[in-house]
Amino acid sequence: MKWILVFLCMASLAAAQTPEEGLKRLQAGNKRFVDEALLHPDRTHERRSSLVEGQSPYAVIVTCSDSRVVPEVIFDEGLGDLFVIRVAGNIVGPTELESVLYAVNHLNPVIAVVMGHESCGAVEAVVEGQTEGIPAIAALVKPSVEKAKRLKPKDLLMSSIKLNALKMRALLLKSSAISKQVEEKSLAIHSAYYNLQTGAVEFLHPNNVK
Ligand SMILES: [Zn+2]
Repeated sequence: MKWILVFLCMASLAAAQTPEEGLKRLQAGNKRFVDEALLHPDRTHERRSSLVEGQSPYAVIVTCSDSRVVPEVIFDEGLGDLFVIRVAGNIVGPTELESVLYAVNHLNPVIAVVMGHESCGAVEAVVEGQTEGIPAIAALVKPSVEKAKRLKPKDLLMSSIKLNALKMRALLLKSSAISKQVEEKSLAIHSAYYNLQTGAVEFLHPNNVK
């Protein structure tokens, strides 16, 4: 048993080579996190050394700076697996877009995810009109909050957070370099919602958010 555990801790998971495999690997890692069955892959000295010459992360994650939303933990990944952009409200402004484009154009990821999360303070500030100090973030988040208000959802904050993640996904797709890879099916762009309570990541359908 002990040796099995040692083996698991040294694990390096099968590479994700298609958008479908990328999504499955993220979902499997999140399930391990939820189930407290972590493998902690790709954290050995060998892995670190193998990455000195370059990186080829299979996934790009755009998510919030919130200390509770740590992609490598939530998806049970290690060194060289995820190319992460974290900014309050998981917005996609010019600098975030350029960061995603760098990965897409040079590192060959198969999947990108814009992930919002439960109780996001940045989105909540916009919902409550308390945007002093975050004008640039609020400007990008506001259209989604206004859309959510029109939908009259049961939970305005949750709806705003989900719509914001979908909106940022749509902004990524406006880039011709990204949409070209999506059309060629070498890259998929998803949006998701992270539940602080359960640890589960819900991948969002673009037409099914309230
Ligand atoms: Zn947040």
